[in-house]
Amino acid sequence: MFDRIEADGYEQVVYCQDQPTGLKAIIAIHSTSLGPSLGGTRFYPYPTEADALEDVLRLAKGMTYKAAVAGLDQGGGKAVIIGDPATDRSEGLIRAYGRYVDSLGGRYITAEDVGTTQADMDLIRRETRYVTGVSPALGGSGDPSVATAHGVRWAMKAVAARLWGDPELVDRRIVISGVGKVGTSLVGLLVEDGATVVVADVVPAAVARLVDRYGDRVGAVDVASAHTAPCDIFAPCALGGVLDSARIPQLGCAAVVGSANNQLADPSCAKLLADHGIVYAPDYVVNSGGIINISEERSPTGYHQERAYAEVRRIFETTARVLAVAGEEGVTTAEAADRIAERRIADMARVRQIRTFR
Ligand code: NAD
Repeated sequence: MFDRIEADGYEQVVYCQDQPTGLKAIIAIHSTSLGPSLGGTRFYPYPTEADALEDVLRLAKGMTYKAAVAGLDQGGGKAVIIGDPATDRSEGLIRAYGRYVDSLGGRYITAEDVGTTQADMDLIRRETRYVTGVSPALGGSGDPSVATAHGVRWAMKAVAARLWGDPELVDRRIVISGVGKVGTSLVGLLVEDGATVVVADVVPAAVARLVDRYGDRVGAVDVASAHTAPCDIFAPCALGGVLDSARIPQLGCAAVVGSANNQLADPSCAKLLADHGIVYAPDYVVNSGGIINISEERSPTGYHQERAYAEVRRIFETTARVLAVAGEEGVTTAEAADRIAERRIADMARVRQIRTFR
């Protein structure tokens, strides 16, 4: 276990158990170099504890990079509750989990993730202040997916500026695969921008709703061929792993800019995309609007939507910088994003060695 967590530099892994409620959770803190670790709690029926551990470690490390590249004073952490949220969730279990989060004294701040809801965050809030994504009535920022969609739009504008010398998306053809919470908000924003949008989803009703709402501004394509449709930008907004060695040669787009996490099936796919002349905006840069928004809840003056969205807008500059660094240093855009994150962590570690004697 120590060998595993040492290799990627994890600071702390905490196992939490409460037998009466059936709580079994693992909290992984990858890094607090830039600030308290922040990341969601995933509630999922992992087949084995080893699967749960691997998932929480991988996700926690990803959060360190996401927060660092987004310019936040936050570290990376994540938590998993092992179980089926449909049958195992109870007030007792969630609040017991909240007490374990509290016991870490702010080293880990939790949020919503797959399998947990805003209502769960509200329950956790009753046990600890180290939780974000609570209801607006409790001073929270609510559902992060709208902010995430805004961030995706800013990333698309940065890519458009780089590729076509103009950030405007007017008349750009954009294919969105997955029109759930983020995808649906994104469609609205892109229609406002004057883009032509084409959507795909495994749930036909989700597609029909958007086509009905926006008329000739939004078309439909089937899920299996969405990635092959000729377009300016392909936006994966559903599951991870969509960019693999089979699909990349079939892509019909000039650029990939979407909200889905872990879009690359494996790291070598970044190079494959570049070899096919496709600009890939790294997923964790593009989809950082959600975490930027919730981290605003930590502001001493509380959450303000206007300030939060101004911060989300910085995804434009961050994406532009990633594309520029990739060009200057001759690396893939994925590698460029990692380098920017690692350099910022190292820089801030040095800055914090300056002693202030207060
Ligand atoms: P969601 O569950 O609301 O929407 C996902 C949509 O994808 C659903 O409509 C679903 O029917 C559809 N879908 C599932 N499989 C599909 C497939 N094979 N092809 C096409 N569509 C498919 O999720 P969401 O909150 O909109 O998040 C979308 C993605 O963005 C996820 O990968 C998520 O991890 C990531 N993300 C979301 C946020 C956020 O703020 N919600 C933040 C960062 C990253």
